Amino acid sequence: MYYHRMDCVKVILLLPLAVFSGFRGNAQSSQAESSALMRRVDAVPKEVSLADGSLKIVNLYKIEASVLLRSPSRAPAEIVDQLARDVYTPYSAFWRGYLGDEAAFREWAETKLLATTHPIHSHLPAVLDLDLNRQFTQLSKWVYQISGKQPLGTWYVVFGPGWTNMGGLGDIGMVLDFTRQEQNREAIEFVLVHELTHQVNSARPDDPNQGTVLQRIVSEGLASYAAYVWAAGRKTPAESVFYTLEEWQWAIAHEEQLIAAARPYLLSKERKDDDRLAARNKHLLEGGPAAAGYFLDFGLCNNTWKGGVRSPGPRRSTCQFGRCWTGVHIHFNDLPRGEPRLRLAAVSLSPRKWLR
Ligand SMILES: [Zn+2]
Repeated sequence: MYYHRMDCVKVILLLPLAVFSGFRGNAQSSQAESSALMRRVDAVPKEVSLADGSLKIVNLYKIEASVLLRSPSRAPAEIVDQLARDVYTPYSAFWRGYLGDEAAFREWAETKLLATTHPIHSHLPAVLDLDLNRQFTQLSKWVYQISGKQPLGTWYVVFGPGWTNMGGLGDIGMVLDFTRQEQNREAIEFVLVHELTHQVNSARPDDPNQGTVLQRIVSEGLASYAAYVWAAGRKTPAESVFYTLEEWQWAIAHEEQLIAAARPYLLSKERKDDDRLAARNKHLLEGGPAAAGYFLDFGLCNNTWKGGVRSPGPRRSTCQFGRCWTGVHIHFNDLPRGEPRLRLAAVSLSPRKWLR
């Protein structure tokens, strides 16, 4: 989504120490509810391996919930010790990339996760209802079907510090944080398809544009386009690049200017140039929408994926639904089975024309 290359932000936790009593029930009925919840949590596997072993899902929320549900009368310090043992230590690379070292984890756990107001106490049943392992299984299969390639990487599903709802942590993997993410199945699936497509695309070892702004926006456009195809009419092109209709219309009206403004930065490997094209708080042209790179490459996808043959280049017809729908079917269904189709598309998308 928008939080690739997310920086780990250290904040001072200002909330007073809250006494943990989230799952503490004082009636028999709440005890019964608690054990029913515990059975559901126990049924979730700690880790799941998908896509012939190239995709790993780590259900950290299951381990967190399991510790909390079994600790109704323990002292906060004991619970924090166990969380550090079971949740932090085995996955310390993830925590260091997302939250900080063990001391930071302990402070966060004690002051935030154990607080009765933390979403883990109220949202856990809804997260279990999502049946995420099934979603990951189905969506990774779909991405494989359309691309001929398996997504590569690790997902950490967690009640974390909530720095993002879903995002990338560089080489560490992807995070889905239910402290921030709503339990909306459709919204989650839509972003998952986008991110799994990134994970297919990043599995390409031979990208000559590795590390450039061009590679970033091609990856974003491809991911946005795959999510648009998956949504099958439930999302507009604008929504697929996280634009409002007004932003989309402005971009369509100024497409040539946006391409001209983007051209000097395409082969740059500078972070500031990457942000200029892909950050949600940077505007390539004054008055235009942020993250113009998403729009530009989405437009390329629409215009180039016609029968597997590249058409002349970006045109203003990018948002004509009927045409892109036709393009999608031709592209995805008519190429030989087993062909690495997204790879072909991504390579053909390296828009040499833009560089001239
Ligand atoms: Zn993305």
